[in-house]
Amino acid sequence: MAVFAHPDDEAFGTGGTLTKYAAEDCDVYLVTATRGEAGQIAEPDLATPANLPYVREQELRCACQTYGIHPPRFLDYQDGQLPIVNQGQAVGRLVRIIRELKPQVLITFGPDGIYGHYDHIAVHHWATIAVELAADPDCFPDQLAGGCRPHQVSKLYFRALPESQVAAMSEDGKPAAVMMDGVPFYFVGRRDDEITTVIDVSDYVETKLRGIQCHATQVGRHNRFSDTPDQVIGEPWFRYEHFVLARSAVGWPQAVETDLFAGLRRERSADRTR
Ligand SMILES: [Zn+2]
Repeated sequence: MAVFAHPDDEAFGTGGTLTKYAAEDCDVYLVTATRGEAGQIAEPDLATPANLPYVREQELRCACQTYGIHPPRFLDYQDGQLPIVNQGQAVGRLVRIIRELKPQVLITFGPDGIYGHYDHIAVHHWATIAVELAADPDCFPDQLAGGCRPHQVSKLYFRALPESQVAAMSEDGKPAAVMMDGVPFYFVGRRDDEITTVIDVSDYVETKLRGIQCHATQVGRHNRFSDTPDQVIGEPWFRYEHFVLARSAVGWPQAVETDLFAGLRRERSADRTR
């Protein structure tokens, strides 16, 4: 299960991973807090401000279908407002979904929010707390009365950008940033020794590209992903997706992991060695 803030948050850094695990017959779910209606419309004929929430929902549905994962679940919050919504209610909604879907692995933003976006940081806090509380029978007991059982997520991951990738994104010697209200929010890179997990998604890059194209109101019809796909596919940042293991109920890796389910596949690996 992945938990993000906006439609397209899943696309660039986790689209390959979601696709890979769906292809391996995992049940993969995406929870998105908003419909991304506060963002810019890349091309004016693709949407209007009034129908943008609907259009972006359809774009995310298109992306999920492309990745081969379940349709998205929305927390139904307003884009740009996540730090000021009722935090207990938001965490409660996530706890309920975790208890319902019982994910073994959960992916969300790290405390950096990739580039410090306050919606991303809010979702990071919600998901991290929800993982703790979902396992606690004393939390949200009204949910348990409704038949919802406590659930322990085995591994919690934060999506991460390696420092080398952030450096490669800089232009004209300026650090890479996303402009919000005229202010640059800089991408935050993680040192190599902080990255615990690298997923090779080389076999799924075409699907990842198609997932990105679903988000047309955000990326436009013409972009480097549509115009020079072979170049994008050849870039290491596109073929490898990076994570930091933040909580684990199944031990800690001695070396860089290449599988989010490492430590959760004992029976399968035992079968192989027989
Ligand atoms: Zn976002």
